[in-house]
Amino acid sequence: MLSGRFRGSIKSYWSVGYGAKSLSSRDVLDQHETLSGCLSTLPKKAKVVICGGGVMGAAVAYHLARRGWGDKTILIEKERVGSGSRWHASGLVGAFKPSLAQVKLAQSSIRLLQDLEARGRPTGWKQCGSLLLARTRDRMTVYRRMKSQSVSWGIQCELVTPKRCQEIWPMLNVDDILGGLWIPGDGVGDPHLLCMSLMREAVENGVGVMEDCAVTSVLSKHDKVCGVETDHGAIECEYFVNCAGFWARQVGQLAKPQVKVPLLPCEHYYLHTKKIDNLDPMTPVVRDPDGYIYLRERDGCILAGGFEPVAKPVYEEEIGSALQRCVAEDWDHFHILLQELLKRVPSLNQAVLHKLCNGLEAFSPDCKWIVGEAPEKLHPATCEDKEEGTSKTKNKEKNLIVGAFECLNGLLMSLHDCDQCEILQMFNYHVAAGMKTVGISAAGGVAEATADEIIDGYTKYDMYELDINRFLGLHNNKRFLRDRVKEVPGVHYGLPYPFHEFETGRNLRLSPIYPTLREKGAVFGQVMGYERPTWFEPVEEEKVNPQEPRPFKIAYTKTFGKPHWFETVQREYWACREAVGLADYSSFTKIDIQSQGREVVDLLQYLCSNNVDVPIGSIIHTGMQNERGGYENDCSLARISENHYMMIAPTIQQTRCKVWLKRHLPRNGCVTLSDVTSMYTAICVMGPFTRNLLSELTDTDLTPSNFPFFTFKELDVGLANGIRAMNLTHTGELGYVLYIPNEFALHVYNRLMTVGEKYGITHVGYYASRSLRVEKFFAFWGQDLDTMTTPLECGRTWRVKFDKDIPFIGREALLRQREEGIRRQYVQLLLTDHDHEMDLWSWGGESIYRDGNYCGQTTTTSYGYTFKKQVCLGFVQNFDKEGNPQPVTNEYVLSGHYEIDIAGIRYAAKVNLHSPNLPTKYPDKERDVYQATRRLHEPEKFLGRHYQP
Ligand SMILES: Cc1cc2nc3c(=O)[nH]c(=O)nc-3n(C[C@H](O)[C@H](O)[C@H](O)COP(=O)(O)OP(=O)(O)OC[C@H]3O[C@@H](n4cnc5c(N)ncnc54)[C@H](O)[C@@H]3O)c2cc1C
Repeated sequence: MLSGRFRGSIKSYWSVGYGAKSLSSRDVLDQHETLSGCLSTLPKKAKVVICGGGVMGAAVAYHLARRGWGDKTILIEKERVGSGSRWHASGLVGAFKPSLAQVKLAQSSIRLLQDLEARGRPTGWKQCGSLLLARTRDRMTVYRRMKSQSVSWGIQCELVTPKRCQEIWPMLNVDDILGGLWIPGDGVGDPHLLCMSLMREAVENGVGVMEDCAVTSVLSKHDKVCGVETDHGAIECEYFVNCAGFWARQVGQLAKPQVKVPLLPCEHYYLHTKKIDNLDPMTPVVRDPDGYIYLRERDGCILAGGFEPVAKPVYEEEIGSALQRCVAEDWDHFHILLQELLKRVPSLNQAVLHKLCNGLEAFSPDCKWIVGEAPEKLHPATCEDKEEGTSKTKNKEKNLIVGAFECLNGLLMSLHDCDQCEILQMFNYHVAAGMKTVGISAAGGVAEATADEIIDGYTKYDMYELDINRFLGLHNNKRFLRDRVKEVPGVHYGLPYPFHEFETGRNLRLSPIYPTLREKGAVFGQVMGYERPTWFEPVEEEKVNPQEPRPFKIAYTKTFGKPHWFETVQREYWACREAVGLADYSSFTKIDIQSQGREVVDLLQYLCSNNVDVPIGSIIHTGMQNERGGYENDCSLARISENHYMMIAPTIQQTRCKVWLKRHLPRNGCVTLSDVTSMYTAICVMGPFTRNLLSELTDTDLTPSNFPFFTFKELDVGLANGIRAMNLTHTGELGYVLYIPNEFALHVYNRLMTVGEKYGITHVGYYASRSLRVEKFFAFWGQDLDTMTTPLECGRTWRVKFDKDIPFIGREALLRQREEGIRRQYVQLLLTDHDHEMDLWSWGGESIYRDGNYCGQTTTTSYGYTFKKQVCLGFVQNFDKEGNPQPVTNEYVLSGHYEIDIAGIRYAAKVNLHSPNLPTKYPDKERDVYQATRRLHEPEKFLGRHYQP
């Protein structure tokens, strides 16, 4: 129940005091500071047009101006600058974020706040520190992990006792508190003040600001943004930045082609008390995530809000203006937070309430910011060439890429040439939106990255996890968003257990064998909307009602120690090592790339760091590097015929790697690209008996002399044909990945299961595959590799065609690095004194110590069922006394004594530079010689002439 007095106070305030004098002018929706120097007419031309004069748009304008593009930039705001953020007043600013990229961006934002304040520009920045409270042991573990990560992230923090928590915040009730984390560098800011200060400085440095002007359309020509239409006329431009915050999704729809910015608003509540006597203005921020709440001091009052587990979504088109974004309060919905607030600060019961604010803020489906250049492409029917007044279909010869036809939200593309369709990019359309309720922490850093991307073409940090290209069309489906965003705000304060899964928006992308796998006990995780088995629960054969499908089960871990699925995954792991495991790999990105002549070979030679001009039937594992040598993509390419390759790339790359490819396709349309992800079901069979099994189902001779390791063949399997079979696995085990036309998938699966019975065939989920690949020291893009990591740093120098005089993107950078030496090295670390039953596990992101000094961080980790040890993959560096990274050599790596810090306890670790050979009952020459990381032997000698690294 609500506290009668508190609720009474609020009610009485609402009924009696609604028009009363407010405590802060910034709360008053109809008052605002004005920005002088705004434009009265819209110029005809600019280089960059920013849409939205909230804190994000202001920060982008500021950073572009700082880099000398001020007089080339126009910011357009449909109301008044800062109107969107006038009342967003919680103002919490914290450096800790869930990932390194987000931490770096937040730290850059804090530096900007400090810098502006130091120069007399008000931002509301107050470094009052923040205190995180723990009610549970798991929450304390999270703080211990954060404390251990803080070394690598450069955040000062301290674990504190409940008593110390109360000293820091005397009003707190700490009866149920186990401890906390004190972060002295955190603070508070004011988005409106920050926005106005950034805007003023931007205007002083040449940025033109047009208020009361709404963007109505964004136009493109020859694949690039070419202009913007507004209700005050049109403006030509080369770059467009969508900073429309709350309305970014709608503004995306104004573009031709439409740009998908998947976000949807939710209600967000906080309340203000009236003034509280003697409240110290430097009172720290308190976050009590187990109670979903936060509190801070503001203008002598308490401001308190929270992130309830189930939020209330709103449709953005129903909210026309900033004023309407402050919607009526819903006390019943706020109840859960109010209860917790009163429990944590009982004296609030005596406070007089000023008001409850219900502000709306937009969230993306994965609770991350949306940043980067949009991936959209154009359908000619929607693209009018304004200047020439013609449809672009008429200009097809000029700029079509024939044959690639994308439909169904980008999931299906036909293989045939299609003259109705074309792929045209919408280059130079940038997005900086989805800032959710941490916009001030984001603004400075995200804007700096946006300005860098526009001017330099790349950002200083790897940002793929925030990249707008992480989405597919399905993520922008409004019903999907409406369901999903209910869960999203709660993620802020939820316990960040490993392998978090959302519960909404599920059962969306399903492989043809999904119903069968579900019946067989699959427990699912979702990736790019795809349901992927994570492990298989044992199922009792008899169901009460055989007609009823088995319940849909979502994977969960909910511990930082030994997970409940340990034994299940162990069983699957051993099936892959000693019998046959069958896994559904359908979610992997599959793209056919082909041409009439040799053009596809030339293109791929330019895009790939490995040599792709290999015999037909070979499979090449290669990176696609950027100019800096980092991985834009890591893929397998099967040469299907002279001028036809099939590319297999990570699931999360389905949009992103296509954008990279399309960006480099020849303009004359001679190379075609078809996304066949949704056309093929991928079944991987792993284990020593897979050759025997598959041989029973096909007439093709599968012996190594006819079908060697790392080669491709089209097979008949069972009664089906046209199955693209690759002799490789992503886990280092002997086996095949079968890419099966969807209509044959169930048939092939059934045959494999029936014949496989005598070989002990077992369903295998993603977690077992992960354990296998970590133990085998296989790097994965998006987990170990990113746009900043080079092949030389991760033990793949031998996969770079340095010995061939063939230009490729990144070659110069890699040659330079080879000359100068690497400054970080990918290693495998086996924990030698860790008890997997009793100790907390490593889950990635742990600090690595060498001879007692911090030297790097883990990326992916797993329990290794053969080693019977925790296995960590990660990067080791060599810092000098000033903390600057120095060259790293094998000798340096091997001469150190290593420890991994797991939540404050350091475990000794043995370092490996090479993929280890795991002991096995069934040694296999092919498999054992293959090294995913670094070359030990001369594999060609063992693997035959077909073998290409
Ligand atoms: C209740 C609440 C509490 C919050 N608390 C915090 C906090 O504690 N810490 C924190 O860091 N953040 C907090 N935030 C979030 C933060 O305020 C926002 O993330 C940030 O203000 C968003 O800024 P923005 O510039 O992206 O979007 P907005 O402020 O929404 O600005 C977008 C602008 O685009 C304009 N626009 C839209 N469409 C068009 C068009 N067609 N043409 C021209 N202009 C257009 C709009 O008028 C608007 O001015 C909170 C937000 C809310 C709602």
